[in-house]
Amino acid sequence: MIDFVSFAHTGIRGLRAYDPGHDLVALRRAAPQPLLELGSNENPHGASPLAVRAAIAALESAHVYPDPLGGDLKRALADRLGVDTAGILLGNGSHELLMQFAQVFAGPGDEVVASQYGFAVYALAAQAAGTTLRLAPALPRDHAMPRGHDLAALGAAITPRTRLAYIANPNNPTGTWYSAADFEAFLAAVPAQMLVVVDEAYAEFVDAPDYASALPLLAKHPNLVVTRTFSKAHALAGLRVGYALAHPDCIAVMERVRESFNVNAPGLAAAQASLDDAAHLAASLAANRAQRQALADALRGRGLAVSPSQTNFLLVEFGDDTARIEAALLARGVILRPMGGYGLGDCLRITVGTAVDNARLLAALDEAMA
Ligand SMILES: *Cc1c(COP(=O)(O)O)cnc(C)c1O
Repeated sequence: MIDFVSFAHTGIRGLRAYDPGHDLVALRRAAPQPLLELGSNENPHGASPLAVRAAIAALESAHVYPDPLGGDLKRALADRLGVDTAGILLGNGSHELLMQFAQVFAGPGDEVVASQYGFAVYALAAQAAGTTLRLAPALPRDHAMPRGHDLAALGAAITPRTRLAYIANPNNPTGTWYSAADFEAFLAAVPAQMLVVVDEAYAEFVDAPDYASALPLLAKHPNLVVTRTFSKAHALAGLRVGYALAHPDCIAVMERVRESFNVNAPGLAAAQASLDDAAHLAASLAANRAQRQALADALRGRGLAVSPSQTNFLLVEFGDDTARIEAALLARGVILRPMGGYGLGDCLRITVGTAVDNARLLAALDEAMA
């Protein structure tokens, strides 16, 4: 019998699989009433009807392989983002691409830096590639961006062995963001021989005037990578489409490990159609903005500390009551994301729902807190 743990290569031996939170399928089956699922930052406003129709139409050709180049989607993205198609890499979700950047550009003996309270996938990516992960301390809890990325600390964590930095703007699970000026200063000080991967999964939701996407910096910085996804603002999480933008030479090397048909045909079709439905996206973003504000106000009105957020979720402190509140909500069919895995056992992450969702959440919370 093989001991599969020691048989695996060094990086994998110490790894724990990504924790997706609750087993929702089992919970749904057991629940007496429909669950209110606010644990995974899915978009409750749903996908564009045009995207759904395009996906269904693509199923008519389910027997045919999808376009291995994703050419139509890349051209649609290139048009909108003002980049060359050669600078776009498509992924089966951006999670896949985040993993592959470490796999391709770092290995044993190399280092990867990320922030404390950064997205869990960065640590997984670093470890799976066999590299050493250096976590930079986050901003303090009483900062204007509580537990957000401290770009100066991230810069200080870089050594001559660093191959890659993972940064999220805005960040999950904190919801926080950093300013364009801070990022440009960070990027200017970073060695040219390392990659800076900026995960912009929530970029579409942002309206803070001090935020800026890293996209315009791509032309000047060949070591910069920006990842985006159709899972959040475009509400296509079930179809798994993400993308990375980077220097064409960087993308060409990444293409060497991309699985030939990694993005499926309904996903390609739906993503492209979703880009064409600007009105649906705008309505979705406006609804999220209004509900995010209303929910944050309601939670703060109950005496809870809520981190500032430019995303579709809120990080909320429940202190010593966290586990009890989480369980009481679960008993009422309301699913939030526990944060113990992030070292934030006194917090829960709440996806911003519709007005109806948020009313149900608050009613359940009032019972749980009573
Ligand atoms: C949701 C999320 C992703 C996107 O995941 P997909 O694989 O594209 O669905 C990436 N980064 C962060 C920070 C996220 O929260």
